[in-house]
Parts: sequence; C-alpha cells; structure tokens
Amino acid sequence: MGPSESVLWVDPRYTLQAKEQVERVEVVEVKGGLLKEAARWIRKKRLGPVGYDDATLTCRDFEALEKAAGSRRWVPAGGMVEELRAVKSPLEVDWIRRAGKLTAEVFEEVRGLVRPGARECDLAAEIEYRMKRKGADGAAFETIVASGERSAWPHAKPTAKSLNENDLVIIDLGAILGGYAADMTRTVYLGKPSARIRMLYNQVREAQERAVKAATPGQRAGEVDSQARKVLDKKKLERFFTHSTGHGVGLEIHEMPRLARGDKSRLQKGHVITIEPGVYLEGLGGVRIEDTILVTEGKPENLTPATKDAWFAS
Ligand code: ZN
Ligand code: ZN
Repeated sequence: MGPSESVLWVDPRYTLQAKEQVERVEVVEVKGGLLKEAARWIRKKRLGPVGYDDATLTCRDFEALEKAAGSRRWVPAGGMVEELRAVKSPLEVDWIRRAGKLTAEVFEEVRGLVRPGARECDLAAEIEYRMKRKGADGAAFETIVASGERSAWPHAKPTAKSLNENDLVIIDLGAILGGYAADMTRTVYLGKPSARIRMLYNQVREAQERAVKAATPGQRAGEVDSQARKVLDKKKLERFFTHSTGHGVGLEIHEMPRLARGDKSRLQKGHVITIEPGVYLEGLGGVRIEDTILVTEGKPENLTPATKDAWFAS
C-alpha cells in the first residue's frame, strides 16, 4: 500500500466478492502466495519504509515477506487499522443500528419464554434462531443465558439447566448484520424480588445509565469506567464488578476503544461502544446490563433499545 494507492490481493475464491464489497481499492487476483505477490509489488514500487501489522502478522509470514521483498526498513504499525476502524462511518453506524434493533427485538420476543422450567440452552438456541429468521448473518458470539448461581460467571455458556423460581438470569446476545455486530445484555429475575435483589439491580442500572451519560466526545475512556464504579461503590458493590465497563463494537465484537480502569484514550464522535457494568456474587448470582451506544456530539444514542424492566410475573 502506498500513501495514495490501495491494493487488495485475493485468491480466486474471493475475486468476485472483493470487487463487489471493496471500494476505492484495486483488487488483484493472485494464484500463487498472497505474501509473495505483495513482496513483488513492494520491490516493483521501490517502497521506502514499509509498515506491517505486528499485532496480527505471524513471525513466519513476516520472515517470508522480508525475504521476498528484499532489504527494506520495516516499521511495526500494529493497531493503526484498529484505531481507524474505531470511528465508524455513517454507513457502518447504520448497519450497527440495524443489528442493534434486531437484537433488541429478539430479546423482547423471547423475554416471555424466560420462565421457570425453560432450559438455558433452549433459550439460547431460540434467540439465535430468531436472529437468523429476521435476516441476521448470525450471532456475533455464542449467546449467553446463565441462571441462578451460574449468572455470577460473567462468561457462562448455556447448559441444559432449567431456570428456577427466584433465579437471576443473565442474557447476553448480539446479532451481526452486513458484517457488523451489536452487543446487549439484560438481566431478569424470576419472581418477586427481595430488597437485596432490587438494590443490586437498581444499582447496576444506575451505574450503567451514569456511564452512558458520561460517554461524550473528549471524555477519557477510563473516566466512563470510573463513573460506573462510583455508583456501585456507594453500595459497596464495586469489588464485585470484575471486568471493565465496555469495549468498541464493529466488524468484530471486541474492538477499540477499551473502557477500562485508568484508560487515558479519549472518546470520539462516531465511536460505537458498549457500556456493561455488572456485579457477580458467589452463591447468589449476577446482574449485568449492557447496551451498544453511539458517541455523538449530543446525547449518546442507544443502539440496543430493549426494555430494562427486570421484574415481571413468572
Ligand atoms: Zn455482551
Ligand atoms: Zn460486551
């Protein structure tokens, strides 16, 4: 790639697809090795310093490239593409907005099935089936349905366990549409909540809402994280919040920026991020609430607008 030229080398399986999906890039079909062809091009263009993605290129491929391209100055440029990708174009936002709407709709539809006796794995399958029926490319990640004590595992896989009366149930789902992912979590409670459950839920909800409000251009990612922690800290719950507040979402489910403790990077207009505080109590269960949001000049836009009402008759 040069400063004004972009080339995509593909093997013959992808030629037609690339021509349709790629804009402003020369598509070159390669029958031999892709790296060999890239190296040939680098030699032909007599390129000076060559940047390469040290975050994803394997050592073996790099050595092959280096050998084939002849002596050059190689500059590690890992993270460059990820940073560019963090700010979404209006077209990309549109795909994520559609994926988020579809995700929220599926949750609303399936919510009525979340009741004692239903199995975690059946609910997860139902969610993914409905996503596909609505035109999603698929699920962006393996859907999480974790109930009772298992809801205290932030990344529990669905099992054949049936939901019980008075279970907290964490449901984490996200569809892909046009290649773009959405990510959303809701927690529901199967029964009449005790004062403690109510307090847990309301505190996480307030933490989530507070962090969403803080997600404005120029704000440090670590400050958004800290806003969520402050709300939880008021009820001594911060120590049960064992992961970071959120992450970018786009072509991949985890992208830049990271909303982690102490992160100094600043949010920008066009960032699409999740805000997902949670608390996890051993033996009792967990509560997590997550939305995918768009950072805008004004109020952040919620791209996964499903209800956050956790209590309903079971
Ligand atoms: Zn999620
Ligand atoms: Zn997430």
